[in-house]
Amino acid sequence: MSTILTNAPFPTENRPFIMPKCDECTVCKDICPTGVIHGSIWQPGMNRDSIVDVYHCDGCLKCLVHCPWTQKYMKNIIAK
Ligand code: SF4
Repeated sequence: MSTILTNAPFPTENRPFIMPKCDECTVCKDICPTGVIHGSIWQPGMNRDSIVDVYHCDGCLKCLVHCPWTQKYMKNIIAK
């Protein structure tokens, strides 16, 4: 759950969304020490605030480190 604020120009391409693979997984919500993750799964058009209260996130990144899909993704990157 991270945000980068920039005014850098980014090219826009019409690519399909990569949809969340969370399914029934709630690891991020369960491990978050501040309880700011609401447990709702992102869908196009959904407001960020309905997913996480970023203003009370302490940036520990436990949600990212313990996410099983992030771990699979990182193993694939490292294996390449
Ligand atoms: S970075 Fe830490 S505090 Fe912020 S949402 Fe993730 S687990 Fe919660």
